[in-house]
Amino acid sequence: MASLTGQTALVTGASSGIGKAIALAMAAAGANVGINYIAGDDVVEQMVHDIESSGGRAIPLKADVSREDEVLAMFRKLIGAFGTVDILASNAGIQKDSPFANMTLAQWNAVLNVNLTGAFLCAREAVKEFLRRGVVKERSLAAGKIIFTSSVHEVIPWAGHANYATSKGGLAMLMKTIAQELASEKIRINSIGPGAIKTPINRKAWETPEAADALRRLIPSGRIGEPKDIASAAVWLASDESDYINGTTIFVDGGMLLYPGFRTGG
Ligand code: NAD
Repeated sequence: MASLTGQTALVTGASSGIGKAIALAMAAAGANVGINYIAGDDVVEQMVHDIESSGGRAIPLKADVSREDEVLAMFRKLIGAFGTVDILASNAGIQKDSPFANMTLAQWNAVLNVNLTGAFLCAREAVKEFLRRGVVKERSLAAGKIIFTSSVHEVIPWAGHANYATSKGGLAMLMKTIAQELASEKIRINSIGPGAIKTPINRKAWETPEAADALRRLIPSGRIGEPKDIASAAVWLASDESDYINGTTIFVDGGMLLYPGFRTGG
């Protein structure tokens, strides 16, 4: 695995699913980890314990990423503990699904606030620290790296999920715009676009054999993804091994974006 030794990573939405796997993988790669979460004190306590037992360093950072005051306090605590931040894995996300005509403003705002505004707030605070500190050659070629957890739905329209798909489409443009703006400062910003990964957010899509079969039909590789499929890509994107990758989304989707319906149709 690529090395992140001596670097400090903040992972948001890290008490379950993809974020948990990213936090543990970054710790295993040698990073100090700030574990952001909104629920699951016991899970995070265990994660900190496991990371420290393996010789790593981690701190819990309870904060709602959609609230500016909580994000600012989280960064102060992280930088107070580890001195700086080198990597942001902005991963927290939610769904509030509804047929479009019935979608409430509350459902719309909730998803946009966490998935897009939360990413903006965390990225802005990370970038401030990257710019303040600049490159430390012994740690990384970059002044900082941001990895957004986006989705195949930054590209694939998704009926019944207008708020979610819009948030991920917006995230793609946020990622590209700030990558363009900050590349000259040696800051790299990319997204990972997961396909269907087995986590609590999409439990209904895989928990029964019938649902899992229907889901697998959308995945040319024939298997539902695991959080570790995303975590290994995140560690690589955070490392100097991907130093020339900037402003792009890497889809980790078992080929979902190959439009499998066209294998036999069309
Ligand atoms: P998950 O529900 O296990 O993880 C989401 C995490 O975000 C949870 O731990 C939740 O507590 C946290 N969270 C929610 N609101 C928050 C807030 N306001 N502040 C801080 N944390 C908050 O599901 P997951 O699949 O691991 O989702 C992680 C990311 O992956 C999300 O951005 C999701 O959109 C994206 N994603 C998931 C899939 C998939 O198939 N599972 C596919 C594409 C994209």
